[in-house]
Amino acid sequence: MKNLDTKSDINSDIDDFMGFCRGLGIKPTHQRTEIYRELMATEDHPNAETIYENVKKRISAISLDTVYRTLRLFEQKGIISRVSAAGESMRFDGNTKQHHHFICVECGKVRDFYSDDFNNLVAPEDVSNLGKVGSVHVEIRGVCNTCQDKNHEKTKKSG
Ligand SMILES: [Zn+2]
Ligand SMILES: [Zn+2]
Repeated sequence: MKNLDTKSDINSDIDDFMGFCRGLGIKPTHQRTEIYRELMATEDHPNAETIYENVKKRISAISLDTVYRTLRLFEQKGIISRVSAAGESMRFDGNTKQHHHFICVECGKVRDFYSDDFNNLVAPEDVSNLGKVGSVHVEIRGVCNTCQDKNHEKTKKSG
C-alpha cells in the first residue's frame, strides 16, 4: 500500500509530468500541463469533455480537439491510461501507480483501489496465445455506495 492521498500533492505530480515530458521528448506546453493537472486533480477518471470544460475555465482559447489530441498523445506515451467503462465515452486515468478499478454499473463511476494480491496475479497460460502480457488489471463491477444509498431512498419513498 502506497500513499493513497497523493492527489493533494499536485505540484509533485507536475514535477513528475515535466520529467516525463523531458524523457519522452514532448514539449510541456502550458495547455498540456493544464490538461495533465486537471486529470491529476480528480479521482473521477473524467472523459475528454469534462477535462475540456474545466481547463476552459483557465484557458479560454483551448479547443476540445486539442484536449483530445493531447490525451491521445499522453496515452501513447504511457503517461496516462484509458479506462473502459461500458457504454460510456472514453475516460482517462492519470494514476500511474499499478492499481485496479471498481466500476459502478449504475452511475459509471470508476474508483481506484490497490491490492498487492491482484498486482501479483499471473495471467492464465491461454492468454499467451492472444499476445504478450504487459500488466494485469482487475476490474470489479458493482453498485457504489452512493447509488446504493439512492436506491435505498427510492425504496423507502415508494414503499
Ligand atoms: Zn454508482
Ligand atoms: Zn484508475
